[in-house]
Amino acid sequence: MKESIEDRIRRLQAGGIIDMHFDLPMDLYEKREHRDVLETEFLPEFETGNISVVGAAIYIEDRYLPQNGLRIALDQIARLYAETAASERFSICKSYREIQAARETGKIAFLITMEGIEPLSADLNQLHVFYELGVRSIGLTHARTNAAGHGGVFAASGSPREGLSAFGHEVVRECETLGVIIDLAHINPAGFEEILSITTKPPIVSHTNVRRYYDIERNISDEQIKTIGKRRGVIGVNSILVSPREDESTLDRYVDHIEHIANLTGIDGVGIGFDFFEFIYRQWPESRQKELAAKFTTPHFIPDLTNHSHARNLIRRLIERGFSDIDIEKILHRNWLRIFEEVL
Ligand SMILES: [Zn+2]
Repeated sequence: MKESIEDRIRRLQAGGIIDMHFDLPMDLYEKREHRDVLETEFLPEFETGNISVVGAAIYIEDRYLPQNGLRIALDQIARLYAETAASERFSICKSYREIQAARETGKIAFLITMEGIEPLSADLNQLHVFYELGVRSIGLTHARTNAAGHGGVFAASGSPREGLSAFGHEVVRECETLGVIIDLAHINPAGFEEILSITTKPPIVSHTNVRRYYDIERNISDEQIKTIGKRRGVIGVNSILVSPREDESTLDRYVDHIEHIANLTGIDGVGIGFDFFEFIYRQWPESRQKELAAKFTTPHFIPDLTNHSHARNLIRRLIERGFSDIDIEKILHRNWLRIFEEVL
């Protein structure tokens, strides 16, 4: 008997989904007066989506900088540890082996990532401290300049023409030595090239979109995509910057980004980095939403892909768009697992 589409979705979803970028620690920190936030607010959506690995990103908002970057980063990590310890369902993983063990026992694995090196305070020793705490993927910058380099801007051009600082070089080299994934998300074009010129391991872009559909420096060009493909890296597709237009911010456009990357790198070069943000955005007062629009852009959330419980909508659309089972498995988890196995 022919398998129904529902059964096929269920079978593909059963392998688990890896999302390499989620601003979870920031939200846990904001809700530090509450207990069991992970279990009550996040677990139901993770379970519905069958999310198996989450890149939990340490990110420091402008309002805490420059004085409190280190403090807030430690507080965010502390909250993640405390919330994880209070639940049977999660595990903070520091190696490929630990990730596989979590998957085998049905736990949701967190891989702690860092979006912007502000917490390091330009001190390489701090990198070792954060490594001990479990940070296993680092993107040097967000959309701003820091001690390591410059972020790409939310416009077609305009970031500084120079690449990394001397400290940025040191961080990248040390990450390669330690076994920390280097994440090229957000870095400006010059920094992107420079990082690739001083590294040998497969690079990743944890959460981004293709400039073909949204032409801003923060996203990546066809040339950059091809380079990542040649280096056997993986690019995670972001759900909040699929188009500058609201009416084009659709699930189909999300799949267009996946397809475009796969066409340039082969199917081994594409994964998921949802960057779900609607739940944070909706908690903000209007003044703060306007501030975000002025500084970066107004995010357009895809109605049927706004949180982890919607993952099956994506699987369905990938099937409808003609992706094979093996292609879908690679997109959902196999490609990221290969990176974990090779780098961590
Ligand atoms: Zn980001």
